[in-house]
Amino acid sequence: MFVDSHAHLEMEPFDQDREEAIQRAKDAGVSYILNVGSNLEGSSKAIQIASRHPFISAAVGIHPNESKGIEDHHFKELKKLSKASEVVAIGETGLDYYRNYSPKKVQVDLFKKHIQLAKEVGKPIIIHCRDAWEDLLPILNEEKVGELGGIIHCFSGDGELALKCVDLGFFISFGGPLTYPKAGMLREAAKAVPSERLLTETDCPYLAPQSRRGKRNEPAFVVETSEKLAKIKGIHPGDLGRIVLSNIQTLFGFGENNFSEKITYKIRNSLYVNVTDRCTNNCKFCNRTKNPMVAGYDLSLKKEPTAEETIAGMEDPGQYDEVVFCGFGEPTLRLEFIKTVAQWVKERGGRVRINTNGHGNLIYKRNILPDLKGLVDTISVSLNAENEERYNLLCKPEFGNGSYQAVKDFIRESVKVLPKVIVSVVRVPENMDVKECEDIAENELGAHFRVREFNVVG
Ligand code: SF4
Repeated sequence: MFVDSHAHLEMEPFDQDREEAIQRAKDAGVSYILNVGSNLEGSSKAIQIASRHPFISAAVGIHPNESKGIEDHHFKELKKLSKASEVVAIGETGLDYYRNYSPKKVQVDLFKKHIQLAKEVGKPIIIHCRDAWEDLLPILNEEKVGELGGIIHCFSGDGELALKCVDLGFFISFGGPLTYPKAGMLREAAKAVPSERLLTETDCPYLAPQSRRGKRNEPAFVVETSEKLAKIKGIHPGDLGRIVLSNIQTLFGFGENNFSEKITYKIRNSLYVNVTDRCTNNCKFCNRTKNPMVAGYDLSLKKEPTAEETIAGMEDPGQYDEVVFCGFGEPTLRLEFIKTVAQWVKERGGRVRINTNGHGNLIYKRNILPDLKGLVDTISVSLNAENEERYNLLCKPEFGNGSYQAVKDFIRESVKVLPKVIVSVVRVPENMDVKECEDIAENELGAHFRVREFNVVG
C-alpha cells in the first residue's frame, strides 16, 4: 500500500508509456496517485488521466515558474477546470525564488488567486516553495490557508520549518531526495513530523530516488522513498503505507473505515482490540477527543464493540505475536469484556497484552489483578511522571489526588500475578525526568521500563 501524492504523469516524458507507467505503479502496490497539473494544458490532461483510473485524482493549478503572462481569462479557464469531479485540490501553486522565472510580485499575486479559488471551491491546496519561505509563511498565516488543508509538496526544509507548516494545518510530503546520502537535514525533518501529517510522493518525472537518481522518475518508485521513510520513523513499511493512505483520505475526505475495521486493527504482527473510547485520564498529549487516529486507523467509535463482535473479527489469534487490548481509551473500564475475549484468545494459543493507565483498581474499588491471572501475559501501564504533581499536570486524572500512588500500587499488584509488567512513559515536549521514571519502574516497582515517543504511533 503506497501513495504518490504528487505526480506529473501528464508531462511529455510519459507520452510514450503513460499507461504502462500507471500499470507498473499498480503492480508495485501504489494505491493512490494525485496527478498535479502545473499549467492549464497540464491541468486539463491531469483530469483526463484521472477520469480513466479510479485510483488517480487530479489537482489543477499554474506553477509559480509559469506565472508570468497569466491573464484573467487564463485564470477563468482554471476555475472551470477546478469544478471537474476528478479534481480534489488546487495546485501546484506557491512561490519559487530559486529559479525566479517570474517576478516575485507576479508570483505572489497568482499564489493569492489560487488561495482564493481554493476557498471558493472548498478544496485543499498543493504548495510548492523554493527559497521563498519568508514570503510564503506570512501569506499562509494571513490567509488562514491551513483551514482549507493542503500539502507542502517535496518538502526541503528542516524540522523546525516542517513543524511550523504542521502547526499551520498542512501535511508534509517527502519525495526522492529523502533517500539521498547527503539529505540528513531532510531525514531529521521527517523524524520531527507527526505520523498523522506525513505524505509520500515522487514529483515524477523529476527527482528519482537514490537507486535511480538522474533517470526519469515514475509513481512506482515511491516504494523506495516510502521504505526509507518507514525506516526513519522506526515503523513497519506496511504500517507507514496505511498511515499515509489514511492521511490522504483524511485530507481529501474519502474512504471511511467500516465498523469491523475499528474493532480490531493490525500493527506489525500484533492484533489490537479497540475496547472503548472512554478514559479516566485526560492526558495533555492525547488525541482521543481531537483526532483518534492510530497507525492510519480511525478509532472513533459510535458504539463499543461487544465481545461477540470482537471475537467474530478475529481469525486464529495464535497467528499474531500478541492480541493487545488498547485503543484510545482505558480498556479496564470494560473488565468483563476483556476477560471474555482474552479467555477465547488464550484457549486458541494466543498471547494477550493490555495497555492500561493503571486506574483499574480505582475504577472497581478493589484489586482486579487476580481476575487477569492466566488470561494476560503482559500488562503495559502508563506511569508518565516521576511524581504526583507532574502526573496530575500531564494526565489530569478524573480521580484527582492519589491517582499517581494508585497507579504505582496497581503496578506492584501486577508484578505479583502477571508474567510481564512494563511501565511506560510518553516522551513529551515538557520536561520529564525519564531517568527517575526508569528508576521507579525497575528498582521501586520491579517492572520493565519503556519510553514511547509522543508523536509516533503504533
Ligand atoms: S490514558 Fe491513554 S487514552 Fe487515556 S487520555 Fe491518556 S493517552 Fe489518552
